Amino acid sequence: MTFKSHMAQALAEARKAATRGEVPVGAVIVSPDGAVVAAAGNRTRELSDPTAHAEVLAIRAACAELGSERLPGHDLYVTLEPCPMCASAISQARIARVYYGASDPKSGGVAQGPRVFSHPQSHHVPEVYDGIAADEAEAMLKAFFAAKRP
Ligand SMILES: [Zn+2]
Repeated sequence: MTFKSHMAQALAEARKAATRGEVPVGAVIVSPDGAVVAAAGNRTRELSDPTAHAEVLAIRAACAELGSERLPGHDLYVTLEPCPMCASAISQARIARVYYGASDPKSGGVAQGPRVFSHPQSHHVPEVYDGIAADEAEAMLKAFFAAKRP
């Protein structure tokens, strides 16, 4: 099977999040046979829920769809480096591969900070591919936060 990136759809979810006044981050989960099983953007403000990050919402939706607490063989695309909470959720869900866009020096938990997947307590370690469409994801985040400043 040829590789197909789903980052464009993740970026579309991020764009939709921005229009809702949420931090523009989007995530997509793809099944082993290449079907998109869930797509989500941040909804922390809308749901008054600090855990409603795009990755967590996508994992919840995919697990509900499958009736399973785990997503073995599944890929996750997300526009921004996952934070420690999401990285831990990704590990718990047994996601096989993580493709992310922009790196997040402030809150990222994969390539910096606690480096969750490199920690000995991370019982499942996905393959990680970074920098996928990073420029577009980063530009969106910068524009969002620039517009917030008075
Ligand atoms: Zn997160």
